[in-house]
Amino acid sequence: MARSHRAPPRRVVVWVLSLIALAAVTVGMAAIRGHLTTAHVALTFLLVVLLGSAAGGRTLGLLLAVLAFVLFNYVFLPPYYTVAIEDPFDWIVLAAFLVTSIVATHLLNRAQQRAEEARQRAIEVERLAVLGAETLNVGRAEDALAAIANVIRTTLGVEHCDISLDRAGPTPAASDASIMNVPLQVRARTVGVLRIAHSAPIALDPAQRRFLDVLAYYAALGVERVRLVAEAERAEALRQADALRNALIAGVSHDVRTPLTTIKAIAHRLASHGSPDAASIEEEADRLDRFVGDLLDLSRLNAGDMSMHLELNTADDLVGAVVHHVRELPGAQALCVRHDQSGAVLFGTFDIVQSMRVLANLVENALKYGPPVTPVELFVERCGGRLRFGVADRGPGIPPGEQDRIFEPFYRPPGARPDVGGAGLGLAIARRLAEAQHGAVRYEPRPGGGSIFLFELPAAATPVAPAAFTRF
Ligand code: ADP
Repeated sequence: MARSHRAPPRRVVVWVLSLIALAAVTVGMAAIRGHLTTAHVALTFLLVVLLGSAAGGRTLGLLLAVLAFVLFNYVFLPPYYTVAIEDPFDWIVLAAFLVTSIVATHLLNRAQQRAEEARQRAIEVERLAVLGAETLNVGRAEDALAAIANVIRTTLGVEHCDISLDRAGPTPAASDASIMNVPLQVRARTVGVLRIAHSAPIALDPAQRRFLDVLAYYAALGVERVRLVAEAERAEALRQADALRNALIAGVSHDVRTPLTTIKAIAHRLASHGSPDAASIEEEADRLDRFVGDLLDLSRLNAGDMSMHLELNTADDLVGAVVHHVRELPGAQALCVRHDQSGAVLFGTFDIVQSMRVLANLVENALKYGPPVTPVELFVERCGGRLRFGVADRGPGIPPGEQDRIFEPFYRPPGARPDVGGAGLGLAIARRLAEAQHGAVRYEPRPGGGSIFLFELPAAATPVAPAAFTRF
């Protein structure tokens, strides 16, 4: 709490009343002094000291004890109205009275302090429980932060309390004791800052500091929640944008394919009538059809809508299908297949049609981007639980900064010639097709120059006698 320097009026009243009570008791007992023993006087004064101490605290208790001690001697011990004491035993009575009242004042005060501390703790726990329930129940994390700031303001009696998501709060000037910044941390990570400000210097006692630290932790959790909610909203917005884009691509692709079929049919008819341009129209229509097909597949793969027929197949069947598929391509005679060294038939669980697309794409790229007569190597091996197909060429390779980007849809390297390659969808689709079968496609630079594209699929144990399967 910001310290207030004005004495509370209740304190003054208690002091004045206690002194009046002491005076009244002294006068009253003096009037009937003849009927009283020193025990009566001592107990009555002790009562006043304890009542004053209970109401006004230790200082008042000690003051009353000393005053009562003096009055005891002066008014009630012969010779009266002098500080001298006639009977030496009265010294003992007087000393016993002084010690008893001082000790009793201390004990009473300590008990009161303990009770007050317990009361403060109870209030603190109750406030934290209420705050915890409130912050858990509010719909928006921002409201929880506002509630926490409010509790800090009212509990510590400061004028301002802000909770900011900025990790570095405003730095108070070195001498500015009226501003305090508390870093907000969750698992040793700073997520924001809590700033309290007051018109007077802020001085917190240990209990207040403890309370502030606990609330700062609540605030840190609130800030973290605000951040997570913002992230979830962003992710949801992205997901919706993705869904919209996929739906758009699917719709547009479908609308483009219908007229394409008509164009192809007309071009085909014209070609059969000997029209010279009809063949290239048909070729372009085919290219466009493939592009639209790729787009559709990409949107289905992105949306997780592409169904895979995962079955037991052999690596050799896949390699054989790919070799057959690319046999007509320019440079296909440079393709050189290297089988697994162990000679065992390798089995895997994969979709043979889609895997053929992946591997054929990698081989087509190697033939397309590699130098014309240099061999392109296609190898297969088993690595632990995976079947690994590799396509290695002696082409230009991929610069380090682009090795991941080539798997992004529509990526073409800067300066790529428009007449070489397609639309940049091949590798994006290949990677997604591999992942949809719990496999992967990745790039590695080839020692000595060129590229190695690796296509991995889950391997399977040999199901029946290997002799039932033939190598191609
Ligand atoms: P594209 O249809 O353009 O070939 P891909 O997705 O198959 O699209 O490939 C993306 C880019 O990756 C290509 O434009 C090319 O620059 C690069 N690339 C792919 N394969 C190779 C390779 N074997 N060697 C060199 N660059 C390659």
